[in-house]
Amino acid sequence: MKRITAFIKKTKSKSADYFSEYQQDIAGNNAIMLKKANILYIALLSVYTVVSALIFRNTMLLMIYMVFIICAAAFLLVQDRMIRRYHHSFAITQALCMDFIMMVMAFVIVISVLPFPERPAIFFPILYLVMTVLFIFPIWQTAILLTGVEAVFLLCVYLFKTPGCISYDVFASVTAWGLGFVFSYLVLDLRLRENDVRRELERISVMDETTGLFNRRSFNQYITRTYAHCRENSLPIAFFMMDIDHFKAYNDLYGHPAGDECLTALGRALRAAFQPEDAYICRYGGEEFVLILAGDQVRDVAGTARAITECVRGCGIEHSGSKTNCVTISVGVAQETPAARESYMHLIRQADAALYHAKENGRNQAAFYEEGMGLK
Ligand code: GH3
Ligand code: MG
Ligand code: MG
Repeated sequence: MKRITAFIKKTKSKSADYFSEYQQDIAGNNAIMLKKANILYIALLSVYTVVSALIFRNTMLLMIYMVFIICAAAFLLVQDRMIRRYHHSFAITQALCMDFIMMVMAFVIVISVLPFPERPAIFFPILYLVMTVLFIFPIWQTAILLTGVEAVFLLCVYLFKTPGCISYDVFASVTAWGLGFVFSYLVLDLRLRENDVRRELERISVMDETTGLFNRRSFNQYITRTYAHCRENSLPIAFFMMDIDHFKAYNDLYGHPAGDECLTALGRALRAAFQPEDAYICRYGGEEFVLILAGDQVRDVAGTARAITECVRGCGIEHSGSKTNCVTISVGVAQETPAARESYMHLIRQADAALYHAKENGRNQAAFYEEGMGLK
């Protein structure tokens, strides 16, 4: 019992994470599926209209097909406009998918009970199951939908069908109702598993394995986005370029594996010192790191530069090839409020020039870019 409760809890929280984190993706998938499903639905209804006209010659059947073809075509137009207008809004796409399912199920219920009240409803359970796996909904929404549709179907069967086929319809639809839960859970479980893999891939694609910091690929994305944001909103941005002092000598003295361990320790210390909400920090290249403050984060630039050098020194990693006898870092800082049409490249150049000065002045310190420092 405990295991079942734990399992339900875990699935619930994973599902909640998924539906809050990937709303755009889910809305996008559902919107595509909705359009395809609606077109297929109209095509099938059209084929069945012709077949029914030729085989069954039942006026009521034809009328039902016509009415639902018109409904589906109108729905297709509305759905297309709404999705385009509200840019794949999660709530609107989900509501449209629900409406589509209800429209299809209303058709199946009508076709199952009205034209041939003496025959069992074959299509109801089939379409019931198809609908449960077509779109991505949280389990509780699927449950409400399935139960509501099932209740309406049973009521219609009770009211309109002949006693001979009531037992068949009740049996088949209740079975489909149960299977609907199982199928929708299995499909959701599959998506959650896919999601775990995707999350891991996303993490790997932006993380540096040695330091645990963001990598260069992430930096390129972050700086492009953040610089443009600061430029458009006239916000300040501060750029810190860091380079470990005498690291070549460290490798020569202690070996490359020890050099890697040193990078791992520094990455861990920097991550602990600067929380993601306070600063963006990444491994820029070999033994170079970058820290960026943007907008409200730009408060105490000198204090941040000091915190960086203190953080690295504070690790107390022995380095007999350095004057301080421990591993230290130099920092070049550049700060600005980007002007129109400026690129972040010159901010990097300024920070680089400042870093060069920090190295020239004896390392283990921060230097701030000033005019005349000489840009490369
Ligand atoms: P400076 O104080 O002027 O920066 O001196 P430096 O020796 O640190 O000079 P530089 O920054 O040019 O040295 C970079 C060295 O960092 C060269 C390379 O051996 C080492 N390095 C770069 N990436 C890695 C890495 O992933 N692992 C290890 N172990 N060493 C690396
Ligand atoms: Mg270097
Ligand atoms: Mg160096």
